[in-house]
Amino acid sequence: MTDAPGGGGKPSEIHVGRMWNYARKFAEKSGTYLHPDVSVTETVVEGLARHIEMVGKPLCPCVFYPDPKEEAKLRRWVCACDEMQKWKYCHCLLFVTKEGVPVTEYLPDDHEGRQAYGLVLDPHPDKGRAMARVLDKQKSEGGADSA
Ligand code: SF4
Repeated sequence: MTDAPGGGGKPSEIHVGRMWNYARKFAEKSGTYLHPDVSVTETVVEGLARHIEMVGKPLCPCVFYPDPKEEAKLRRWVCACDEMQKWKYCHCLLFVTKEGVPVTEYLPDDHEGRQAYGLVLDPHPDKGRAMARVLDKQKSEGGADSA
């Protein structure tokens, strides 16, 4: 499923700059960090910028899409993707711990991220995981099914 970020021509500086701003802000908001090796972040940021130019949305650059235009109509792999919003897991290594590894604490045990990195605790459990918080709230309120 995963693919190396990159490929194709260089995206414009404007889009790259926008994605850098986004990455810095989202790291802060989600309680994660940008990778200690700046070249890792640069590669992912350029991949996101390239997708904005290709399909109008910052699709995750680490996933292969048979049809990127169709994929862009869906929410799941637009950064920050569902895995980030639910589990604070970024397999591109854009949003990581200070040490440069992705948070795996909330992943299902059989998820490839847990198998690859072991248990990596969330450095800031008070931040991020917006989708998980909404789902938890719905559950604690009895869920949509209760009447
Ligand atoms: S948050 Fe999701 S979409 Fe964004 S770079 Fe990480 S894995 Fe890709």
